[in-house]
This record gives sequence, C-alpha cells and structure tokens, in this order.
Amino acid sequence: MGFSKNIKYEMLKNLSENACCRQAFLSAIIKTSAEYGLSNGELSVSIKTQIKELCDIVETIVKDLYDVEVKVKISEEIFFKKSRFELIMTGSKVKQMLLDLDVAYINEDNCFNFYDGLYLENINQDCCIKSFVKGAFIACGSASGVDETTKKSIDYHIEWVFASQKKSQDFLKLLENINVYGREVKRKKLYVVYLQKFEAISDMLVLFDAQENMLKLNSEYAKRSIMNSVNRQSNCDTANMTKTIDNALAQLKAIELIKDTIGLEKLGEDLSSICMLRLANSEESLQELAQLSGMSKSAINYRFGKIMKIAKEIEEEQK
Ligand SMILES: [Zn+2]
Repeated sequence: MGFSKNIKYEMLKNLSENACCRQAFLSAIIKTSAEYGLSNGELSVSIKTQIKELCDIVETIVKDLYDVEVKVKISEEIFFKKSRFELIMTGSKVKQMLLDLDVAYINEDNCFNFYDGLYLENINQDCCIKSFVKGAFIACGSASGVDETTKKSIDYHIEWVFASQKKSQDFLKLLENINVYGREVKRKKLYVVYLQKFEAISDMLVLFDAQENMLKLNSEYAKRSIMNSVNRQSNCDTANMTKTIDNALAQLKAIELIKDTIGLEKLGEDLSSICMLRLANSEESLQELAQLSGMSKSAINYRFGKIMKIAKEIEEEQK
C-alpha cells in the first residue's frame, strides 16, 4: 500500500471525537470532493473514494449531526482492479446540512447558492483547523517521502488539489493560521497547494496524528542520509566511519522491526527513549549519543545490546 493511503488509514483511526472537529472534517470532505445531483427532485450529495472506512466515518458523522433523514448509500464499483465506493446523501435535510456546513448560503433573493471558495469564516479553533486540513488531505491530498524501492533521491512532497483558485487560496490562508506556509501551483485546470522538504512533511504528519507514518518517514530519512554520507566519505579513511554507520544501520533496522511488530512502547521507557534518540540522530557514534543524552557510553551500549537481542528474537520467531 502506498504512503498516502497508509497516512489516510492511520488518520482515520485517530479522528477527534469533538463535535466541532467532526463537523469541520465533514465540511472539508464535502467542500473539496463532493458532487451534487438531484434525486427524486431533491438535492443529493455524492462522495467517491477508494477508502471504505471513510464512507463509514462520514456516514456516522452525518447521522449523528444531521439526523437520520440523510440517507447514505454506499455502492462499490471495481475500477481498474481497484474498489471505488460512492456515498450518496439524499433527503430533505441535505440542504440544511449544506447551509450549516457553510458549503452553501441563501442569497438576498432567497435562492440557495453554493460558495465559490471554501468559506472558512467559522473554522477558527486550532482543533477544527487541524480537522479540516486532515479531511481535505483524505479527500484531495497525497504525499511522497517513503519509497520501498530505495532510490537515491526522493521527493519529499505533500499536496492538496483543488478545483478552483479561490479554494486553493482559502486553503493557503487556513494553513497560515496554524503557521504552515504552503505554495500554490496550477496543474492543468487544477490548483495545487503543496509543501516540500522532509521537515515540513514530518511536521504535517504530526499534525495529522499519523505517528506511525511519521516514524517511518523519519527512519527512512535517517537511512538515506547515512547512505549519502557514506558516499561523501568514500575517498577518506573510512574504517571507523563505516563501523559507526554499520552499527547505526543495524540499530535502525532493529528499531524498525520492533516498531512494526510489538511496538516501541512495549520496550519500556529506558529502551524506547534510546530508540527515539537513535531515530533522531541516525549518524552519530555511541560516543556522540552519550554526549547528547548525558548517559555513559557503556550504558547506551548495554541498552542497544538489549534492543538488538529483542529484535533478533522477533526475527527468529518470524522464520
Ligand atoms: Zn474542534
């Protein structure tokens, strides 16, 4: 499964239970990806996605917040071997829901109208801004930065794609409210808001509550910078350096294995803090880690010994 999809699944597992945030999340999904139609003479809203869990969550939110009269139909179609789900909301309460979510408004002639942009006047609290940014990512976003095929260079990139410039501009302003400064580019008829650089992506994953994917990104980044520094050092006397790097690589591999199987939290405070220290300082020698942590070199060495042993046990079990 791709990096973007992994992030989306993790995000959906950690959604806020606050009514304000759930409403902001729903409004983001509708404002960025909904299509509108008529069903029995009444307005209907359709959302298409490849993520079944998103349908379930949207259905729950809609029912909780807007009463049972909003009907939700989920249909599955197979499209180029990928499942696609469509969720349709119909019924007399749909219009009220769209007004309530600031998707539409009643104009001076008493007509029902859709807003051109995202209309975010009522999304003010940090928690709700965060939920909106998450919802928009699930509906119209993607990210890169983790790649199984270990290419030499990788693009650290996260983006949200909008149908109009008014929407992308509104979204940029929303991001600024939480001190995130994105850029905009036009791609064919679409307007893309994006962030680049490893740190920006990593920070965004923290904001998304996608801790596991953030750790994965960080450890891949660490591995990559080690490989790069190996290349830089290749003409020097590298005996020591290579040993340090080999150790660090082995430790990172062990940490990742533990993270993916039993989870770092199972290790207890002492060992998991060493794992975090290594993840954050991928190239450092034990001596340098000792300086950073204020522990003795032998204490760190001892803890890494334990970590490597645990990883080895997991590896044995997996055989
Ligand atoms: Zn909120």
